[in-house]
Amino acid sequence: MVRLFVSDRIFIDEDLCNGGIVVNNDGKIEEVFKDPIEVEEWLDANSHTELYDYTNLVIMPGLIDTHVHINEPGRTAWEGFETATKAAAAGGFTSLIDMPLNSIPPTTTVENLLKKQKATIGKICTDVGFWGGLVPGNENELKKLLQAGVVGFKCFLCPLSDEYFNSVTEAEVELAMKHLENTNALVAFHAEKCDDECCDVDENNGDIHDFKTYLKTRPASLELNAIEMITRVAQKYNSVRMHIVHLSSADALPLIKKCREIVGNRLTVETCHHYLNFTADDIPQKGVEFKCCPPIRDANNQKQLWNALKSRDINMVVSDHSPCPPELKFLTDGPDFGNMMKSFCGISSVQFGLSVFWTSCEKHNMDISDMVHLMSVEPAKMCGFENRKSKLAKGYDADMCIWDPSGEFVVTPDIVHFRHKANPYMGKKLKGLVHATIVRGNFAYRRSDREIFNFVGQMLLK
Ligand SMILES: [Zn+2]
Repeated sequence: MVRLFVSDRIFIDEDLCNGGIVVNNDGKIEEVFKDPIEVEEWLDANSHTELYDYTNLVIMPGLIDTHVHINEPGRTAWEGFETATKAAAAGGFTSLIDMPLNSIPPTTTVENLLKKQKATIGKICTDVGFWGGLVPGNENELKKLLQAGVVGFKCFLCPLSDEYFNSVTEAEVELAMKHLENTNALVAFHAEKCDDECCDVDENNGDIHDFKTYLKTRPASLELNAIEMITRVAQKYNSVRMHIVHLSSADALPLIKKCREIVGNRLTVETCHHYLNFTADDIPQKGVEFKCCPPIRDANNQKQLWNALKSRDINMVVSDHSPCPPELKFLTDGPDFGNMMKSFCGISSVQFGLSVFWTSCEKHNMDISDMVHLMSVEPAKMCGFENRKSKLAKGYDADMCIWDPSGEFVVTPDIVHFRHKANPYMGKKLKGLVHATIVRGNFAYRRSDREIFNFVGQMLLK
C-alpha cells in the first residue's frame, strides 16, 4: 500500500514545510509535497493511499550513527543486534554502522563478515552497515572486504585491550594504503598514539575512583601524536579517504584544518555527544559510566569542539556506543566498584543522540538543519550512501524520524532499550521526543500507549 506521511513541519530542502511524503511499495520516496494543496490533490486522485497525519510533529530524515559497537556474534552478552537496533530506532536512528571489533570473530576477513551478517537476520529494526577492521597482516583481505560491502576500515594506533584486534604501526598503515590505492576506500583511525613517555604514566598514582586520575593517563598529546601521523599519511595517498573517529582533544583541530586545506574532504572528523555534553569536572567519584577513550576533557576544550561543529571543521557527531556487562565496567558491588583505572572504556548512548544533541542545540545556536547535517547528511556521505539516505527527496529510501522538539523525558532504566542500562545520561531530563521511526517506509518504532518495535532493518552494503 502506498503511504502518505503528512505534517506541518517536514524537513525538505533545508526547510520545515507544511506538506507530505509519499512512499511507494518499495520503501522509496515517490513524491515530496511542500504545500498542503498538493497533499489534498494527491489524496483526491489516489483514494487507496494509507494516510499518516502527524500534525505538528517534525518529520525529518532518519539519523545515521556510523560508530556503534554491537559486539555480536561472540559478545552478545555485551550488546546485540536486537537490543542495539531497538534502542537506535527508539531514538530516531534509521541506520547504524557496526564497528569491526569486540565481536568474536572481529570483522577482519570476508569469512568473519559473513558470520556477522548472518547474526543480523531477523533481528534488526534499523538498517545496519559494517566497518571492516584493519589489523596487522590482513592487508590481502582489504579489497575483498570492500567488494563484500564494508563501508571502510577501522584501525587503532595504540594498543587496546581486545585480544582479537591488534593495533597497527605507521608502516602497517602505509602497507594497507598501498593495497587500497585507487579504490577511494575509507580508513578510520582511533587517533591516540603513545610515544614512550605517555605509556609510562603511572596509572596507580592517585585516587583510582577519581576520573582525573584516569584522565592523566590519556593526555591530549596522544591524540596529537596520532593525528600528526594521520595527516602526514593523508597527504601521501591521494586516492584513499581517511577519517578520525571520536575526536576529543580540540588541540588537534588546527592540524586537521591545515591538512584539509590540502586534501579537502578526503579527511573527515567526528566527535561524540559525550565530549560535547560533559566536562571532566562534571564526572562524579566512581562515575565509571563516563569512562571512554579518548577521555572527556575540560570545559574550554568542549567549547572549542562546539565551535568546530559550527564551522564544520568537525564533520559529524556520533555515539561511539560501546557497552559491556556491568562487571567489566566495575559497576557491581565489590572491592573494585567504581575503579576508574580498571573499568572498561566505553559509553552507551545509541538511543539518545537526537535528544542529547537537541537539548544542547539552542544554547549553541544550532537548529534542526544542523542536526540533520551533522547526524545524517555527513555520515551518509562518508559511507557512500548519500544517494539513498539522509534526504527526503524523490527516489531516496523513506527513512524518517518523527519527533516532538518540545517533548521532554527523563532518562530512567525502564526506557533504555540497549542491553546494559548504565549510561551517563541517567536521571537527566532531555528534550526531543521520538514518536515514530520509519525505515524504508516501514515502522521500525512507534510510541503510542506502548512502544512497538518491528524488525524491518536490512543489511546496508556498499
Ligand atoms: Zn568506538
